[in-house]
Amino acid sequence: MNFADSEIVNAILIERGMYPVRDAELADIVLVNTCSIRENAETKVWNRLKEFRKLKTQNKLLTVGVLGCMAERIKDQIIEEEQLVDIVVGPDSYRDIPRLIEEVEDGRKAVNVLLSLEETYADIAPVRTTGNGVSAFVSIMRGCDNMCSFCVVPFTRGRERSRPLGSILNEICQLSDQGYKEITLLGQNVNSYKDGNHTFSTLMDKSSLLYPEIRFRFSSPHPKDFPDELLYLIAERPNLCNYIHIPVQAGSDSMLERMRRPYTRDQYLQLIEKMKKIISNLSLSTDIIAGFCGETEEEHQQTLSLMREVEYDLAYMFAYSERERTLAYRKFEDDISEVIKKRRLSEIISQQMSIQHRRNQNEIGQRHLVLVEGTSKRSAQQMSGRTDNNKIAVFDRKDFEKGDYVEVEITGATSATLIAKPISKTGLVDYYSAVLEA
Ligand code: SAH
Ligand code: SF4
Repeated sequence: MNFADSEIVNAILIERGMYPVRDAELADIVLVNTCSIRENAETKVWNRLKEFRKLKTQNKLLTVGVLGCMAERIKDQIIEEEQLVDIVVGPDSYRDIPRLIEEVEDGRKAVNVLLSLEETYADIAPVRTTGNGVSAFVSIMRGCDNMCSFCVVPFTRGRERSRPLGSILNEICQLSDQGYKEITLLGQNVNSYKDGNHTFSTLMDKSSLLYPEIRFRFSSPHPKDFPDELLYLIAERPNLCNYIHIPVQAGSDSMLERMRRPYTRDQYLQLIEKMKKIISNLSLSTDIIAGFCGETEEEHQQTLSLMREVEYDLAYMFAYSERERTLAYRKFEDDISEVIKKRRLSEIISQQMSIQHRRNQNEIGQRHLVLVEGTSKRSAQQMSGRTDNNKIAVFDRKDFEKGDYVEVEITGATSATLIAKPISKTGLVDYYSAVLEA
């Protein structure tokens, strides 16, 4: 989401005649887009600011700004402790950056952390300078009203609001013209998207029909309100990927209740079962928090057992990090020691690695359609891309190019990567028509 936000800021600055440079040492203005979700995300930013402090002593005219969630959360601390930060801008005030820069030029500190009920940056066409040119993120809504007890997002990003459907389709149209082949629609809870009568399913329906050669993914849905119609749509449309990221957070009813996640373990498992039944060859991923307030060994074991039951293809796993202002901060005690949190997290990770390894081994011998994202990081002789079910596959370069759809056969697998043999270059519609005929 921050990646997408930086592209919006890019557009706002370029419009005013400022342009991005690759190297901070060549810049007149450095803006750091920040995340507050866990303490270590913020620690990284503090370290980064120390580096820029050095630059600032070399170049007295350098302006340094902090954008995004940390700006929203701790504006005073940033201004006070980090004397060398000139600009502080919350996630709803990016349009104000050019004015704030002028304010700094007048010798003042410039701050705007007002949250908005309406801002969606709908009319701004993000300028994508750092992506791979093949896959893009499109933000469809901002903020979150869910108030999970561990999460700072509702406080830093404000109330939930949806961007008009027309402006989203317009951005997708531009991306299609620019040759993009894969779009991930972003929101904190995509199934609460609403524009008049249009729902998230309407958006997926229209996007996939209008752009049959573009693959669509989304992140994240919430287990509390995943509609059946969306599952059937994904099953039916070849360009809606058979991959769903569906964060569970924990595997026991008691923990889910403390987390204020409004579903039970059973309800979640029933949803997963339904997903697997409706969508063939479905890949699933999730988010897990280890060591949340009061977590017992039994609750931890239930998280492990749920993960074995679902068999996720991928998981983002975190140790609980207490965040100020959240319900957990106000009401519960962060009482699981770092040692126990780390031990539980590593048990969760190692179990997941072996599940992934097994799941990926099962892919050997299968055929997949891969969208090529570029050359592999390991070898210039290999290309790398993603399967429809979101697995990274590498294969011989031949004359394939970034943005090609290539049919491959999987010949090997690790827990992170599939090794493949390329068969031939094709198109998305052609490939799936052939699969259907066969
Ligand atoms: N809106 C998404 C999640 C966005 S935040 C959803 O509800 O699914 C991404 C992930 O960060 C969360 O799913 C959660 O697993 C993790 N997270 C959020 N707050 C956290 C905290 N305080 N400590 C550790 N992990 C946290
Ligand atoms: Fe945070 Fe919950 Fe909103 Fe996700 S749904 S952003 S975890 S409050």
